[in-house]
Amino acid sequence: MQLANRVQSLTPSSTLAITAQAKALKAEGYDVIGLGAGEPDFNTPDYILDAAKRAMDEGLTKYTPAGGIPELKNAITTKLKRDQQLTYTNEQIIVTTGAKHALYTLFQVLLNKGDEVIVPAPYWVSYPEQIKLAEGSPVIVAAEESNAFKITPEQLKKSITERTRAVIINSPSNPTGMMYSKEELESIGQVCQEHDLLIISDEIYEKLIYTDEQHVSIAELSDDLYDRTVIINGVSKSHSMTGWRIGFAAGPKDIIKAMSNMASHSTSNPTSIAQYAALAAYTGDEKAVDEMRTAFSERLDALHQMLVDIPGIECVKPSGAFYLFPNVKKAVEQCGFKDVDAWVKALLDEEKVALVPGSGFGSPNNVRLSYATSLEQLEKAANRIKRFVENHQ
Ligand code: PLP
Repeated sequence: MQLANRVQSLTPSSTLAITAQAKALKAEGYDVIGLGAGEPDFNTPDYILDAAKRAMDEGLTKYTPAGGIPELKNAITTKLKRDQQLTYTNEQIIVTTGAKHALYTLFQVLLNKGDEVIVPAPYWVSYPEQIKLAEGSPVIVAAEESNAFKITPEQLKKSITERTRAVIINSPSNPTGMMYSKEELESIGQVCQEHDLLIISDEIYEKLIYTDEQHVSIAELSDDLYDRTVIINGVSKSHSMTGWRIGFAAGPKDIIKAMSNMASHSTSNPTSIAQYAALAAYTGDEKAVDEMRTAFSERLDALHQMLVDIPGIECVKPSGAFYLFPNVKKAVEQCGFKDVDAWVKALLDEEKVALVPGSGFGSPNNVRLSYATSLEQLEKAANRIKRFVENHQ
């Protein structure tokens, strides 16, 4: 069957691919440790489940407004005021089928053929693909590992052309877990202001920070930056609700209105029951969020230490999210593999540990490990990686 050009060059998600491979091995009976997943391993908290059950019992199972129910929009504006000191009206909010679909719809309404979006690398795998699906051009700007995988204002400036429309800032980041400081965001914001760029601020890992650093949204920094920023966020990672598919975008009214129009013809609306669950998430107390964060923090400390103790593995310690992104170049060379992808494949074959190669994130010397699994599993995985490296030396 002849398929459309737009899907011919589409790269399947490398994170989902490795998860599928690990699952297949598990189904064959192998004791596989999957560190590929991009989702918390905790159950969705009970008070959220109860709200969804109540919504079903009350018959709240019909179409909703395309951009989300007003109660949830209210809860999101309250959250943005409380956490980011930002004031939005409901017309500036769209509730979407996960943050992923907020981004997808945003690129669709923003880009004409050939418009450029600056994507700092390492990047979340879907950004470049979604930009291409909107006929835009992702412009990859490689952040240095020595600069904690963060781009500098100079790098940003150099990559701007007449076609540049927007830049993506993802802090804390998937896959590196790194965060931009207020000062760094100010200088990036200044460049965006000078060149009249839109800022797409993906804040999905906002609640998962393990240092004293404060999460700062670039939109908080000035009225001008507020006007040129679209915030992307959602409940998937903060409330362990990946399967419910609720995210949102907050930004200029005209952009949000166009996104709602598009949503009305694509999804109709995010699932009604999931919206009521997200309403409970945003209006409930954050005890469950704090408990998950504490568990992640312990795991980060433990896994980071275990990894840097393995010869040939170097790893900057991240501040947030639930990933480590070590540089394994030396280990790969010492083990005699041609590249990181081959090393990762052999690790899965021989030791049944699934990691995601950095190539999918635009960083071929690294691998991504998710610590969204128990400490016991993490210890077992680190021991297996160590044994693998030692066996190949
Ligand atoms: N943005 C980043 C950086 C992510 O890592 C993810 C999920 O992996 C998303 C957005 C999408 O999240 P959601 O589950 O809300 O679609």
